[in-house]
Amino acid sequence: MLRIAGIVKESITDGEGLRLVIFAQGCAHKCPGCHNPETHSFEGGYQIEDEEIIDLILKNPLLDGVTFSGGDPLFQAEAFHQLALLIRKKVTPHHPHFTIMAYTGFTFERLLEQRDLYIPLLHEIDVLIDGPFVESERSFDLNFKGSSNQRILDMRETLKTEKPVLYRM
Ligand code: SF4
Repeated sequence: MLRIAGIVKESITDGEGLRLVIFAQGCAHKCPGCHNPETHSFEGGYQIEDEEIIDLILKNPLLDGVTFSGGDPLFQAEAFHQLALLIRKKVTPHHPHFTIMAYTGFTFERLLEQRDLYIPLLHEIDVLIDGPFVESERSFDLNFKGSSNQRILDMRETLKTEKPVLYRM
């Protein structure tokens, strides 16, 4: 079960194509200039069953994928891992090209330092946008990124060697 701030059923600004976006509740990064301070509390938001999210996804055959945003979904790595596994099991057979994207304020290198906690989820993610939001590097021209320090990583390629590989759009 996840604790979330909300769900946007259709978005074209949180990754490639039409995506359902889940905004995780809870984030401890405290990036100056954060746009979603209401998502920081780990007690806020509401809880939702994985099956409820699967139903929302299956109701919309036009979706290209789901995006885990926040807050920071990596603070609920185990719960999002369970949801990702359920998406692979229940959605992928109907939508073979359905993708899972995630945003995190951690860098990929930082996640590797606690691999037991994070790697299982990363294995189910196709594209990871990593790194904190840095106000001085903010730009409105960056596709799907808030600031230029962040990277859009191809997780399948990245995990082969554990060296960051940028995703080609
Ligand atoms: S990681 Fe995202 S939600 Fe968390 S403080 Fe930074 S910008 Fe805000």
